[in-house]
Amino acid sequence: MTQPLYYLDHAATTPLAPEVLEAMMPYLTTVYGNPSSKHQAGQQAMNALDQARDTVAGILGCTAAEIVFTGSGSEGDNLAIKGVAQTHLRDHGSAHVIISAIEHHAGLHAAESLERSGITVTILPVDANGLVSAADLESAMRPDTALVSIMYANNEIGTIQSIPTLAAVAKARKVPFHTDGVQAAGLLPIGVAALGVDLLTMTAHKFYGPKGTGVNYVRRGVACTPQIHGGAQERRRRAGTENIAGIVGFAAALAHAEAKRVTEVARLTPLRDALIAGILGELPGIRLTGHPSERLANNASFVIDGIDGDSLLILLDQRGICASSGSACTSGSLEPSHVLDAIGAIGNDEQAALRLSLGRGSDARTVEHAIASVVQVVQLLRAAA
Ligand SMILES: *Cc1c(COP(=O)(O)O)cnc(C)c1O
Repeated sequence: MTQPLYYLDHAATTPLAPEVLEAMMPYLTTVYGNPSSKHQAGQQAMNALDQARDTVAGILGCTAAEIVFTGSGSEGDNLAIKGVAQTHLRDHGSAHVIISAIEHHAGLHAAESLERSGITVTILPVDANGLVSAADLESAMRPDTALVSIMYANNEIGTIQSIPTLAAVAKARKVPFHTDGVQAAGLLPIGVAALGVDLLTMTAHKFYGPKGTGVNYVRRGVACTPQIHGGAQERRRRAGTENIAGIVGFAAALAHAEAKRVTEVARLTPLRDALIAGILGELPGIRLTGHPSERLANNASFVIDGIDGDSLLILLDQRGICASSGSACTSGSLEPSHVLDAIGAIGNDEQAALRLSLGRGSDARTVEHAIASVVQVVQLLRAAA
């Protein structure tokens, strides 16, 4: 397969950074021991695991014991939401979970699955920019609320929530607060103390690490029922032989992303703004989705009137542009996005959603080509309608 020329889908996944692959290589080849083994091959793997855990804990500002390695962001969201709610149900006889209407399907569907075991779920609305209101959260709180889970930054529209403000509402009632920080890692500060969160979920493949490796921060004292039973790995919070290469890759990718974060955000922000201004300036019948300023530095997302989303993506692909209609998980299905629905962006007429997400490989040329191609393709499709 040839390399796509203009990869503008970094919210779906990112390429593996060469230095991350390099850090992983020994653990894909010569260092193959099981960290649970007491012999030297096992202990070599255990040392790598300990070191990776220390690196991640150092970046989050927590202790190594508060890090749980998982198999993905989806698993992390499930572990946090189901795990905390199930513990509360077991200990108190009832449980209530509060989430937002724009959570990733991993969070949304995990919460909805709890309803089958008698746990109540409140889904908070968002405003037209995708923000959750602290007052809404406050009034949704109940005596049996077990967990609040609100994502840090949205994967479709890029809106960034004020997590410290929302987490403070939960903290005042001693209710644990979880945030899906998958899109935030590498672009926003993730120190858990400043955020005020009790649980935080990340996945390596969204910041130039390998697919299939996640981390949950679980604050000491927050009880979280395991979702995978078996061995005693991860202090009995997640069974399964550790994916050492993936975990080493996670730590390397997070360290690199964190070291580059401030300069990369400063580089991406004007590129994003040029992309948004260029597209909005040249096309009628198109609107920006998500917050105008409180948005991820790499996210440009739109709804476009009078065209079909799939045709748009196909024609962009023919021009070397890898874009998304919003969420990679729902594009291809005809279901309208729950996020665009929640912000009231979906009308009755035919509309396409378009998400362009920039990354390390994007530059001014990428933006120029993307603007020209989107304008050309939309005009073409409208003329043919
Ligand atoms: C990608 C993503 C996930 C899922 O992570 P996986 O590792 O792909 O399972 C969860 N939440 C958000 C916000 C995401 O963007």
